[in-house]
Amino acid sequence: MICLTEIKLIDDDGLRLDGRKPDELRPIKIEAGVLDNADGSAYVEWGNNKIIAAVYGPREVQPKYLQDTAKAIVQVSYNMAAFAGDDRIRPGPNRRATEISKITAEALERVILTGQYPRSSIDVYIEVLEADAGTRCAGLTAASVAVADAGIPMIDLVPSVAAGKADGQLVLDVGKLEDNKGQADLPLAYVPRTGEIVLLQMDGHFTRKELEMAMKMAIDACKEIHVIQQDALKRKYTPQSSVNTNEQEAEQ
Ligand code: ADP
Repeated sequence: MICLTEIKLIDDDGLRLDGRKPDELRPIKIEAGVLDNADGSAYVEWGNNKIIAAVYGPREVQPKYLQDTAKAIVQVSYNMAAFAGDDRIRPGPNRRATEISKITAEALERVILTGQYPRSSIDVYIEVLEADAGTRCAGLTAASVAVADAGIPMIDLVPSVAAGKADGQLVLDVGKLEDNKGQADLPLAYVPRTGEIVLLQMDGHFTRKELEMAMKMAIDACKEIHVIQQDALKRKYTPQSSVNTNEQEAEQ
């Protein structure tokens, strides 16, 4: 039997359990517009996380008493599928899903031009099909691509990633065992166009210096993730012929 208390999260060569360097992201693939029935959608594979986001709206607010005469409201529903983890996850709402839905909505509200759609609702559904830590960040990353895919005006996309501390070292894009056995976890979301941080949570302990370094690490990574988000939208919205022409020009 493996004794988790004895697991070394960083080996003697400074590499993590999955072979990553401390400041390395897991592989990220994003596809925009994967669902025909939603107004906008995106699918993200991020390491072993598999997440789909769907957006409906702007549409009439349901329930009606939530209507805001000055702007659209953003309603997010984050859900982990029963088969998303090692054991069956109990379906239905729970405190964790409620919390993640709330922080995701608050982050999206900072970038969506809600003032253009008074009395309406923008509804975002995030379904985690497979979970392997970092799903709130991957979900928000997917959701902002889905909002853009729905044609809803926004200031920018919202890339998001967690930095953390494992075996006393700062690490980027915290993995599952690092999340369970590490000393700290810092999910962060960043708006590259304005430099605004729209999500910041902290679980565990950092010194002040470590916190500053962890935030910088996450912000730098968000800039990389932003490029992957933009590429997903470009792939969907750039006609294939001009993509080919651009690629051919790049090769010459
Ligand atoms: P995040 O996914 O944003 O890192 P948490 O820190 O709450 O959020 O969870 C870390 C990981 O722990 C999740 O990505 C998932 O792999 C696992 N996990 C969380 N909640 C559950 C649950 N109820 N059942 C099974 N696995 C879970």
